[in-house]
Amino acid sequence: MVYVTRRAHFSASHRLYNPNFSDEQNEAIFDKCNNPNGHGHNYVVEVTVKGIPDRQTGYVIDLKELARLLDREVIDKVDHKHLNLDVDFLQGIIPTAENLAIAFWGLLQPHISSGELHSIKVYESENNFVEYLGEPVSLIRHGLLNNKGVAV
Ligand SMILES: [Zn+2]
Repeated sequence: MVYVTRRAHFSASHRLYNPNFSDEQNEAIFDKCNNPNGHGHNYVVEVTVKGIPDRQTGYVIDLKELARLLDREVIDKVDHKHLNLDVDFLQGIIPTAENLAIAFWGLLQPHISSGELHSIKVYESENNFVEYLGEPVSLIRHGLLNNKGVAV
């Protein structure tokens, strides 16, 4: 197997907030990421596809195609957005890096035309990242936030 990775960047704001917790609990658990009006991160996403290089092209997957796919299915939908408020597929989901990785897998996996999706990494900062390998987990949807970042 050969593992081929495409990296992309996006910037977005979010608020980590669980309506089942008190304001004090949210503050204690989510800290800076619980800021009522949201706050921003410069994210990095790495998508890895594994496979055997094609006998004719030598490619596992054409990286131009993977780049277009990542832009179309993920980056265009989240770049310079508020993840809680502006992104349909994240409505009601606490937008941690973990949950972003799971959601991005669901968007990309059906479109991988050659090779097999192996992993999605989401870097929320230089030193913190998560990696998702596609094992079954479900995304939990909580209440929605209104445009003031308050639970409705
Ligand atoms: Zn944050």
